[in-house]
Amino acid sequence: MTQYCVCCGKKIGFYDKKYNLVNVNVVFCSQCGKEAKDMLAAVKINCDEQKMDEIKNDFLKKLAESSYSKSIKDSIKAEFRIIFNDSPASKKNCPKSEIRYFRSSYDEAFEIVADIGEKIADRVCDPLTTEIEGVRFAVFAFEKYYMRTGSYASLTVSLAGTEDITAVTVIGSGGGDGIFNISYGAEEDFVSAFWEQAIIGYNHWLDKETTYTGDAKCPGESGTKETVSNRTGVLGGSFDPVHNGHVALGRAAIKEANLDRLIVMPARVQPFKQGKRVTEDYHRQAMAELAFSGMENTVVSDYELNNMKISYTYDTLVYLQKKYPDERLYFVLGTDSMLQVEQWYKGTDILENFSFAVSVRPGYKEEELESCISELRRKYGTEIIKIRSNMPDVSSTEVRRKIAAGESVEEMVPEPVERYIEKNGLYR
Ligand SMILES: [Zn+2]
Repeated sequence: MTQYCVCCGKKIGFYDKKYNLVNVNVVFCSQCGKEAKDMLAAVKINCDEQKMDEIKNDFLKKLAESSYSKSIKDSIKAEFRIIFNDSPASKKNCPKSEIRYFRSSYDEAFEIVADIGEKIADRVCDPLTTEIEGVRFAVFAFEKYYMRTGSYASLTVSLAGTEDITAVTVIGSGGGDGIFNISYGAEEDFVSAFWEQAIIGYNHWLDKETTYTGDAKCPGESGTKETVSNRTGVLGGSFDPVHNGHVALGRAAIKEANLDRLIVMPARVQPFKQGKRVTEDYHRQAMAELAFSGMENTVVSDYELNNMKISYTYDTLVYLQKKYPDERLYFVLGTDSMLQVEQWYKGTDILENFSFAVSVRPGYKEEELESCISELRRKYGTEIIKIRSNMPDVSSTEVRRKIAAGESVEEMVPEPVERYIEKNGLYR
């Protein structure tokens, strides 16, 4: 459906930046909508009754001084009025609109959104929250396919407000309308994309021009393609030997974290790890290559193995980031490792600068992982994606034990790896 800017008449495509007055169905191109957006942000983000008069007067003054035509001014005024008067009580039987603009204390709104979301999407949400200069943000994604092909984001809601002032939903139904007016369409990883933009947008709204890098991250947006970062996963490990669990994790990470590329990184480890001899580097490298050779967009790197010193994840990620400055790096790992990251060498730096894709096992430390993830997101703003595919329950230790005992490891390692182990007499 083609839309045209009500102001300049420019045709607006699906991925174009635009600004919607959602209640009166008026669409602006991003340029023409800027003024309206700024004016309305105040009422959307702060609906404290006491402050409302102040906001209203300020709004009316700005509107009168704006360059918009009379009819557009009327539309913007109507939008203001509807946002201002909208109340959840009048929308009891229509949860979708209730989600759109809910006004109350932050905590109250938070609970209601979670509750409504659960009713609609049949699932408990996993909200991300943070606080910037006294304003608390929360984003909920219920991730249910809901009328919209290919979109995970159909029921996404975000809140912004302070403890006792208003909470406002910014985005509903897959993106598009709201304070920061971002439109992601069928973006799969809506939450993280939203998050980045919300914070940037909010800073911008606070007039912190220096931190505003432009909202050029909409996937598929024309003219800004080069600034859209690719997503690269990094799967590290001793791979002694690589097994089906590693391969499944790599494959699931590509799919679920929507990676464009996966780098498998065999680690250089202490020669006598816990008193046990580690298999020669070239064998571990060769087995990893065999195991991942059939997987698309996947490479096995020898960076750590070629480094003479013991490599830390931090150093490796910094190296890769320098090598691929435009890529967003996701370190792929399991639950136990995720729980430890903060204690790693330069753990804080890792969490502040890189993203994660963590494999979740049903029934295994789920609560602990959940609170760890929330905590890391809150403390460092880290993007952490959960990988939910079931992984085969295999460990390298078990593979080695079986081989030593002369048992078959057929179901545990990829066939070419099994042949390689046999041919080279490893783990006997
Ligand atoms: Zn325009």
